[in-house]
Amino acid sequence: MDVIVIGGGMAGVATAYQLRAAGHRVCVVERHATVAQGATYGHSGLVLPTPLDVWFGPTFMRGGRQAASGVISKTGFGGDARNFVKRLAALHASDAFAAQYALLRPLVESARNALDDVTGRFQIEFEAREGLLYVVRSNDEWSLTQPALELLRRFETPHHVLSAAACVADEHTIPSDPPFAGAVRFDDGQIANCPLFVKQLKQVLDTLGGVQFLTGRTVGAIRVETQRAAVELTPRDPGRASGNEVDVISADAVVVAAGAQTPGLLAPLGARLPLYPVRLHALTAPVAHEECVPRSTIVDAVKRIAITQMNHRLRIAGGAVLQRANQLDKPLPPPLTEEALALLGEAARDWTPGAAKISAALPWEGMKLLSADGLPVVGNAVHPRLFVNAGHGPAGWALALGSARLVAQLVSGAQPDLPDDTLKALRPERG
Ligand SMILES: Cc1cc2nc3c(=O)[nH]c(=O)nc-3n(C[C@H](O)[C@H](O)[C@H](O)COP(=O)(O)OP(=O)(O)OC[C@H]3O[C@@H](n4cnc5c(N)ncnc54)[C@H](O)[C@@H]3O)c2cc1C
Repeated sequence: MDVIVIGGGMAGVATAYQLRAAGHRVCVVERHATVAQGATYGHSGLVLPTPLDVWFGPTFMRGGRQAASGVISKTGFGGDARNFVKRLAALHASDAFAAQYALLRPLVESARNALDDVTGRFQIEFEAREGLLYVVRSNDEWSLTQPALELLRRFETPHHVLSAAACVADEHTIPSDPPFAGAVRFDDGQIANCPLFVKQLKQVLDTLGGVQFLTGRTVGAIRVETQRAAVELTPRDPGRASGNEVDVISADAVVVAAGAQTPGLLAPLGARLPLYPVRLHALTAPVAHEECVPRSTIVDAVKRIAITQMNHRLRIAGGAVLQRANQLDKPLPPPLTEEALALLGEAARDWTPGAAKISAALPWEGMKLLSADGLPVVGNAVHPRLFVNAGHGPAGWALALGSARLVAQLVSGAQPDLPDDTLKALRPERG
């Protein structure tokens, strides 16, 4: 079949790869001049989510002070954002959290296999390395972390639970004062460069053939008919009066993997995806003192702020801002940006003092989709020729490889190899 994929981020390029592997011809439409320029660009490196990474569960947005939860919430009263927060709160209960993570788990495994398969087949050098250390400040937060540790044991994920003293002995750059409650170390927890991976996967596809990348073009609308699906590309130069008509390309199916733009592209077709956009921030700072740089990536497990060394820089990512839907098209007001970046700066000073020159850091902001049930949105939507691969959350970029495999199976009419309850939980029209 001929398939159009909208979006050249991790999800779009992964989808193109899996569709091609399933024997389809693919055209990826990306509005930027190259791939990996959206949320994919701002990653902090965590490859696959453990129960400590998912953006739902007992430790996520647990009331209290905003600075303590790591999410700046400006949802106001009522409206979509408020409902989103309420629904997330239902997953604070440890049973609900465990049940939801169990639904995600088969996708994590499928993604792991897909990543191993891709990296085994092709020489993809994407700065992969191992070593993740999750740190928890207070005893209350440590108690709330226990359901995630229980899931690590249940799924036999190799890890070490450390007291604060053992953590400091192991990673001497972490200060013992102020005191903290404990840590969890994953020796084989993987960190890698997501945009580099995406660019290399594109090169692989360029070499293999069968996938065309149409960059610098924006999809303005999607059309679906019984026999065909099509996308309308907005004119290259909207200012020009003539000779600049809307281009239409048609195919047998369309996959929307357009990151934060996914819900907007599908809304005119009647799809109301259970996704909510959240702004995330990153600071990329020069290393100040090499001896203060931790060996592992450090993650503040409650604030979900990750501190990763990338060459001679430190990337500090997180600092989510949740706003009302009517604010999302506008630039973030400067005080909110400052608040979010301050959270990142504090995390760097708290956990890796002396490592980064925060005053010289370059800030970055990206939009990311979250679902109120914490799971990505993958599958068929609204029409038999229309599919979605989006909303993988801020941790687990490699999940997109597993969900891309599922999309390729659905497009091909093949039996998906994920359990039925997981397929149901991922459905775009789950409400
Ligand atoms: C600060 C930050 C830190 C993060 N850290 C991590 C991490 O450590 N680990 C992790 O796994 N994940 C992390 N993430 C999330 C991760 O980056 C995303 O889950 C993933 O990259 C999303 O990929 P995507 O392809 O869905 O979206 P995007 O990368 O946003 O790609 C969507 C693409 O679609 C294109 N597009 C949109 N609309 C149109 C249109 N109409 N026509 C044509 N093209 C269009 C966009 O230009 C874009 O290139 C982080 C995100 C941020 C912002």
